[in-house]
Amino acid sequence: MTAPRIECDLNKIRHNTRYLVQRLGRRGIGVTGVTKAVCGHPEIARAMLDGGVTGLADARIENVERMRRAGIKCPIALIRTPLLSQTDRITQGCSDSYNTELDAIHMLASSAQRSNRVHGIILMVETGDLREGIMPGALEGITRKVMNIPGIALKGIGANFACLNGVAPNAQSMKAFSSLARETERACGFSLETVSGGNSANLPWAFGEESSGQVNDLRLGEAILLGVDPISGRRIDGLFTDAFTLVTEVIESKIKPKNRKWPAIEPVTAGGRIVSDQRQIRQSILAIGLQDTDIDGLTMPAGLTCIGATSDHLVVETADARLAIGAEVFFQTNYSALMRVMNAPDVEKVIRNREPYKLVRLPEQSRSSLALARATRSPTPARAS
Ligand SMILES: *Cc1c(COP(=O)(O)O)cnc(C)c1O
Repeated sequence: MTAPRIECDLNKIRHNTRYLVQRLGRRGIGVTGVTKAVCGHPEIARAMLDGGVTGLADARIENVERMRRAGIKCPIALIRTPLLSQTDRITQGCSDSYNTELDAIHMLASSAQRSNRVHGIILMVETGDLREGIMPGALEGITRKVMNIPGIALKGIGANFACLNGVAPNAQSMKAFSSLARETERACGFSLETVSGGNSANLPWAFGEESSGQVNDLRLGEAILLGVDPISGRRIDGLFTDAFTLVTEVIESKIKPKNRKWPAIEPVTAGGRIVSDQRQIRQSILAIGLQDTDIDGLTMPAGLTCIGATSDHLVVETADARLAIGAEVFFQTNYSALMRVMNAPDVEKVIRNREPYKLVRLPEQSRSSLALARATRSPTPARAS
């Protein structure tokens, strides 16, 4: 098989999704699966749907169009504030979009009307992250205007936390957001279909003791894909953190001076004298680089230390074992490394477990196949080979 490649185990994506859908379902919260980190990869999107998400969301229209071309018919929301230059593509590809600008909403409305559609609008509210969002004080005025524009339907409001500022949602900010939802419902005289409370950073709040209030949706990417809490970086109990594995190949292995201030021979003017630092290390080059991923976002397998990276090379020190050229080295990635890998044309995307395993009642003698199904569920540590 070729390298570099990113392998995605769809059963782990299905499991993570189902676990979150069930746990949040008990709190009255549905899950929208966010596909932007995998560039709208249709099979990964379908695995989220298998796991029970109510719909999908992506930040880029290109990714939405990719999913539509692959035949995905479910509701897809655009979660980045629409570009005016893309309004026709947005009303064609997306059932809904998250909005903060009245001019963009007017453009979406005329575009939807021209093609006899009704486009759903969710108003994104500023809740402290200071990225996108309508200031809470301006929400009611905008709501009243949006309600009366033909071609669109006001579906609800949304909040977003911890993307730009790392400000985590807490009981107080979520209560305030629920009050805003109630005020918005009073202003428009009907109940909102969607009150979307945030992203993966909301999970500690959503799993906590506090009431979930009016919130009936979370937009989840990182938790489903990587099984971690984006703020602490820690694994969320019950989720796989290794649905994705980046596989790279060794192209050089040599013993080289430890002192990175080469040359070891000082200039001729110094008489060609050999410098005194004689320490040596084993180092290897892996064929992956800054063009392909965020090297800082890779988890180094045990025994490997990152020395540095350039556009096409990752140089590692290997403690004891020598890495043979042609050997494969496996990495887990964080969100930013995954996002760039999925967008890198030279990294092959390999999908594992296309077909969901079916839980069938097994006759007594074939327990081993059940054991096999179980074995695929236990997290495998990052490994060097
Ligand atoms: C990226 C994004 C999400 C998903 O965030 P995760 O941390 O991956 O769950 C949700 N909402 C908006 C607006 C986003 O941009």
